[in-house]
Amino acid sequence: MTNAIIVKNLKKNYGELKAVDGVNLQIKEGEFFALLGPNGAGKSTTIHVLTSLAVKSSGTVKIFNHDIETDHIKAREQIGLVPQEFNMDIFEIVEKLLYFNAGYYGIPRAERKKRIEEVLELTGLTKKRKVKVIALSGGMKRKLMIARALLHKPKILILDEPTAGVDVETRQDMWKFLKKLNKESKMTFLLTTHYIEEAEQLCERIAIIQKGKIIACDNKDKIMKKFGRDEVHVTLSKNVSEKEVASVLKGYNYENGGKLVKITIPAENFDYNKLVAKLGKLPLDKIITKEKSLEEIFVDLTHKYQSKKSVGGFSQ
Ligand code: ADP
Ligand code: MG
Repeated sequence: MTNAIIVKNLKKNYGELKAVDGVNLQIKEGEFFALLGPNGAGKSTTIHVLTSLAVKSSGTVKIFNHDIETDHIKAREQIGLVPQEFNMDIFEIVEKLLYFNAGYYGIPRAERKKRIEEVLELTGLTKKRKVKVIALSGGMKRKLMIARALLHKPKILILDEPTAGVDVETRQDMWKFLKKLNKESKMTFLLTTHYIEEAEQLCERIAIIQKGKIIACDNKDKIMKKFGRDEVHVTLSKNVSEKEVASVLKGYNYENGGKLVKITIPAENFDYNKLVAKLGKLPLDKIITKEKSLEEIFVDLTHKYQSKKSVGGFSQ
C-alpha cells in the first residue's frame, strides 16, 4: 500500500524549546489517523512542518513521496489543511471567499465555479453561498474552512483540532460529517485532537504525542489492549476482614474498599477461572468486569511519561 505521509526523526526547535523532538510517523493512503495529545504537545507544529508553514530543524518528511524540502510545491499540493485557528475574512461572502481561494490554488477560472459548487454541496453549505461568513454558525464556519481546504482536490485532508472549543452538539455534527466524508472519499485523513473521544470515534490508528515525542502509536484497539487494564469489581454481601481478603487474593493487585473490592487484571495471559475459583471463598454479591477507557489509558500514559522524563503538566 502507498504511504501518504512518512515522517522520520522530525525535530523542530524554537530556541531552547524542543517543540517536536524526534517524531516518526508512517501514514498509509486512505487511513484515518489521529495525533492525540495535550495542549502544547507539538501537534500543530508537526502539522505546520508537514504543510510547509514552519521550517523543520531536522529530519525528513515525505508526502506521497515528495520531499517537503526538495519538492515542497508538489508535497504541499497533496494536502488540504484546516487550521486550528479560524483564519477567514468574516465580512466576505461565502462563495466569493471560495472563488478567491480557488484562484490562489491556481484552479483555472473555467473550473472554479464547478469546483465551488462541489465543495459547497459536500459541506452542506450550498444554501449559504450568498451570505457573509460572519452570519454562519460556528459549525458552519468550520465546514467552510473544510470546503476551502478541499477546493484543489487534495489527497490528504489535515484537520488541526477540528472541534476545539465548540459545543457538544456542533462537535457531534462535525464527527458525523467527517465520518461521512471519510466513507465517501478516498482521501487520507490526519486529525489532531486533545479529545480522546474524538480520536476514538473517528480514527483507525492513533499516535499519542507528549512533549514533542510519540509515546505510543498503534491501532486504536491495540492501544487499548497493550495499555489497557481490565478491572474486576467484586461486591461482597457482607463485610469481610482485610486479613481474609488478603489471604484469598494473595498475589493479585487489588484495592479493598470494604464491600467493594477492585482487582486490576494484566492485559494479557490472565487466568480468569482461577480468580473466580478463589473469589468463591468470599461472600459474593456480584462480580463485574470493567474495561478501562482510552481516556484513562491516555492519562496513565502521559503521567507515566511525565514522571519518568520531565517536569511540567498539561492543561487539558
Ligand atoms: P499543540 O498543537 O500540541 O497544542 P504546539 O505545536 O502548538 O502544540 O506547540 C508546541 C510547543 O511549541 C508549545 O510549547 C508552544 O508554546 C511552542 N510553540 C509553538 N509555536 C511556537 C512559535 N512560533 N514560537 C515559539 N514557540 C512556539
Ligand atoms: Mg495545536
